[in-house]
Amino acid sequence: MPHIKDERTFVIIKPDGIQRTLIGEIMGRYERIGLKLVGLKLLVTTPEQIEKHYTLDPNWLRVTGEKTIKNYRDKGLTPPSDDPYVITKRILKNLMVYMTSGPVLVMVWEGAHAVKIVRKITGGTEPLSSDVGTIRGDFVLDSYQISDIDGRSIRNLVHASGSPEEAEKEIALWFKQEELIGYKLLQEQILYDVNMDGIME
Ligand code: GDP
Ligand code: MG
Repeated sequence: MPHIKDERTFVIIKPDGIQRTLIGEIMGRYERIGLKLVGLKLLVTTPEQIEKHYTLDPNWLRVTGEKTIKNYRDKGLTPPSDDPYVITKRILKNLMVYMTSGPVLVMVWEGAHAVKIVRKITGGTEPLSSDVGTIRGDFVLDSYQISDIDGRSIRNLVHASGSPEEAEKEIALWFKQEELIGYKLLQEQILYDVNMDGIME
């Protein structure tokens, strides 16, 4: 088991994030909290890769379908289908179009509780309800309501792994081992060392 401070998470700046010229703003938020960038690639992806990405967890199709049905019901709306798999099939089709519409930036960030910290900074899935102060809450105004009317994916700028297990699978899907760089940042001494010594002359 790696130490908690060596936890890694996988992030994609989606095509809308690139087009909104938010690369520096988004990366800056992960960087300034103390996380370390260990992998980075700009690329145009394929529908096949996106399908693989979202179905790495065999439960994703069912869980996301069920969650979406619940979202509709909680708002007093009728879901387009009662079958979670029918719902996610549509979501996945839209994601394949959205995620291949332009370049994306894929990256791996490392540090203590990397997965949770990145999710916290990124904010909830639907920008309309994402907390103020998060990336999705501060830089975009999309909602399920608008995206459903137009039959497209919600534009929420960023993907971030939901758990360390998900992160591990996603990193292996998008990066070769040799594309990830192991190195030290000098600030890690201040972030993690038991004694903050060597500061005073
Ligand atoms: P994330 O981890 O915050 O990106 O969210 P999920 O993994 O739960 O969902 C992945 C993607 O599925 C989202 O970016 C959306 O495109 C789509 N999605 C998830 N939940 C819903 C929903 O309730 N309604 C719709 N229309 N799409 C959804
Ligand atoms: Mg997810």
